[in-house]
Amino acid sequence: MNYFETANKFGKKVREIGSLIVSEISRKELMHIGIIALLCIFYVIGNGFKFSEATLSTDAASMKDYQQRLNTHLKISVADSALVDKEREHLLMAIEERLGVYLHRIPDFTYVLDLRTYLKHRPEILHQFPSCVPLEKGGYALSSSYGIRMHPISKKEKNHFGVDLAAPLGNPVYASAIGTVTKVVLSSKGYGNHIIIKHRFGFETLYGHLNEILVKKGQAVTQHELLGHVGSSGNSTGFHLHYEVWKNGIKIDPRPSFNLKKTIYTEALAIKTKEMD
Ligand SMILES: [Zn+2]
Repeated sequence: MNYFETANKFGKKVREIGSLIVSEISRKELMHIGIIALLCIFYVIGNGFKFSEATLSTDAASMKDYQQRLNTHLKISVADSALVDKEREHLLMAIEERLGVYLHRIPDFTYVLDLRTYLKHRPEILHQFPSCVPLEKGGYALSSSYGIRMHPISKKEKNHFGVDLAAPLGNPVYASAIGTVTKVVLSSKGYGNHIIIKHRFGFETLYGHLNEILVKKGQAVTQHELLGHVGSSGNSTGFHLHYEVWKNGIKIDPRPSFNLKKTIYTEALAIKTKEMD
């Protein structure tokens, strides 16, 4: 008997045993196995989420610790400035190494404010995600905030997952961060003429009810780049911009981002001026 014959015989035996097992397992038993498998999958997913929550709070705690050390460090005035600079750079680098993952993981802007001390030293990161109002300073009024509100047309209570910024027809609308235009929609319903921009760290922004759109799908935009003009297209009762911020696919309150860049840059400038004195 050569090798191939042996292998063939062995294979036949395995197939025979296999079909015997399958015929002995009833459909009911197969269903039970299926349910157990599904339960296992749910268990793994559920615990996976718990794990990511734990990592977020651990990450936030370690970020806070670095910030505190940076803060304490800044208050100490030491004669040897070279040593001070080196230590500061070391702390900033430690934060930077963790920053990308951290910014991806956080669910909203409250965690960004925890980075205040770091941001004062590296304010450029604020160009990468929503950190300003997408309209001209002083040229708008908040007409509806994020949360539950009475819909102006249907008069029904409805969740409003963005903010409405009333502004005159034709006023410029700017990108609130560097990103890529992923959607340009011309419509007379819902959001009306609107665009969506994808930014870094899982952020996206939506600009609705526009009168005119000046960007194309796939276009790269910088922060404060002109996107279009305020209008009242779609489901709207007056000239306004409906603005949304999404974080990892979930719509969050954009308001904490409105003064973010301005506040941090003012504080950063104060540090620079102090250092120059
Ligand atoms: Zn709205």
